[in-house]
Amino acid sequence: MPRCIFCDAELRQDTKPEHILLDSFGGRKTTRKVVCSICNETFGKTIDDELAKQTLHIRNMFQLRSGSGGEAPMLRRVEVGQDKIDIKGDGTMRRVAKPFKVTYPSADKVEVQFTTNELEEIFRHIPDVAAILKLPEEQVREQIFRSTAHSIEQRPDFANFTYLFGGPDAIRSMAKAALTLWATHVGNNEVRGEPYAATRVFVLRGSADFTFTRSELDSRAMYDAAEITRRYGPIFNAIYVASDANGRVVAHYTLNNVIGFRIVLAEDGGVPSRQVGLISNPLDPAVWTDQAASEIPIPFAWLDAPDYPDDLHMARERIVALHRLYQSLMTPRVIGRISDEVFAKHGFTNGDDSVPQGALERIIREISGRLAKHQLSLPHEETISEEEIRALWAAWAAKRKR
Ligand SMILES: [Zn+2]
Repeated sequence: MPRCIFCDAELRQDTKPEHILLDSFGGRKTTRKVVCSICNETFGKTIDDELAKQTLHIRNMFQLRSGSGGEAPMLRRVEVGQDKIDIKGDGTMRRVAKPFKVTYPSADKVEVQFTTNELEEIFRHIPDVAAILKLPEEQVREQIFRSTAHSIEQRPDFANFTYLFGGPDAIRSMAKAALTLWATHVGNNEVRGEPYAATRVFVLRGSADFTFTRSELDSRAMYDAAEITRRYGPIFNAIYVASDANGRVVAHYTLNNVIGFRIVLAEDGGVPSRQVGLISNPLDPAVWTDQAASEIPIPFAWLDAPDYPDDLHMARERIVALHRLYQSLMTPRVIGRISDEVFAKHGFTNGDDSVPQGALERIIREISGRLAKHQLSLPHEETISEEEIRALWAAWAAKRKR
């Protein structure tokens, strides 16, 4: 029976499968023959979690599902102007705010402001507001019907997000992935040997010294990026491990084709002149390979020559490319969502052939207006009439009676 490369525990038939590229990154390649269940679980809750956080924005932006099909992560409390919003993995947004605020602008005046995601939520808070104002619920409700309501939709400007990559724990997770991948290629005994001792300790416990001397950011464009993106899409994740004739073993880990890391797994004495590579397309997790070393081999010299110029020029260029990609990939989805919403608001379904000409023109005008605002990142705002609020109340009250 093979042994865990980190703690020497014997691996069994029922050892939990370890994802080499994180499941949350869309990784599908797993192994039961390298890492024991206990190490797997411990890493998952600590260093893997830290690495996963670093691509949270990207995964949310592109609505990237995990390798096992889980929804993209939610972004919590993103600041948009005066508001904070949660952006769910499917792109829908919810305001994070107190549902209502009671203020007294003068001695004889009281103002109640509601901030909710659905108008119906206001109805649910009527008893609380009535209690605070010491008024009958019915009176509060009538007041609400006659006040002005606005519906606002706003999209945060993704260009304002800052990207922070790296940090000791994230690098430990990458080193763990690289060692695990290497073990599937050269065997556990090789990776459990002395040349890799420092890397194993680093993965298990961390080491400031290792972080500084053996890992480095790499902002160069990926080697043969054109071919890799042709096969695995524009925001691929890639892990390569290779050794030279002296048995120096280095890993190169690329996150979403935005930033790379070089980690020295063994300074010398490892198995010489080998290479293994894993690439995955997070836009379509079914598309991946663990045969990258033969499909798209990368020279050892390139892998072992990371570069990270002070002006961060390359990294910025790649982030700009990422945002351009966002516009081109995600705009059609936004158009679909807005069209569906507007059609529904007018009582039709998108694509319905029987929409009368006059209504269709109004719908198209409204869709164009909302899209134009969306493209300019302007809030979309509309006033809700008293009739609309009364109708919603009637529907809500009827639903509650049932
Ligand atoms: Zn273990």
